[in-house]
Amino acid sequence: MMGAPGAGKGTQTHLLSEKYGLPQISTGDLLREMSKAETPLARSLKETIASGALVRDEVLADLIISRTSGEDCRNGYLLDGFPRTLIQANLLGELARRQGNEIRVFSIVVSMDCLLKRLSGRRICTLCGEIYNVFFRPPKREGFCDLDGAPLLQRSDDFEDSVKRRLAAYQESTLPLIDYYRQGGRLKEIDGQRSVAEVFAKLSESIDDI
Ligand code: AMP
Repeated sequence: MMGAPGAGKGTQTHLLSEKYGLPQISTGDLLREMSKAETPLARSLKETIASGALVRDEVLADLIISRTSGEDCRNGYLLDGFPRTLIQANLLGELARRQGNEIRVFSIVVSMDCLLKRLSGRRICTLCGEIYNVFFRPPKREGFCDLDGAPLLQRSDDFEDSVKRRLAAYQESTLPLIDYYRQGGRLKEIDGQRSVAEVFAKLSESIDDI
């Protein structure tokens, strides 16, 4: 599943994972988890993620090889946020050949202006994880969760500087991959500026057509 940060890849991949019974592999979530350890690698991951830059391809290679060798990946898997560079795309091609898998790519397309608002406006409840957006879905009381009254937090990589760097990294490193997959005839582009349910319906339709 491809798309800029904020395009809704995570949300859609989660729904697809439930519908098709395939594991969701989010490299962002896996890296955030890895960054919690007390090791030099974890500390450097934490810094890289907070800055909005991309993590080194070698780290991603180890991560993806080990995660996709799990028993739950035998019938395929949904990648969310990987590949993001040409090196990663080549690695995935090689891995798919070895695993006997075919690659299908879905790209969720959203305008830059909307992405900026979705990311920099995002706030998360520190207690229940409910997600708000100050532009599109503000809480009733500013800064606090409607459900449990706990304070809302902004993810450090959702600060404006970091958001701009994440979007720049997407344009420089990841956008060329869209062409790479388009030329290979494996790409399907989906309009991501519709409701979650509409985007999900379009994605499901495309998957059922395969
Ligand atoms: P995400 O939650 O997918 O937006 O990912 C959060 C952060 O994790 C990104 O801004 C990168 O720093 C890092 N990251 C996630 N996936 C990758 C990847 N495939 N290649 C390099 N860095 C990644």
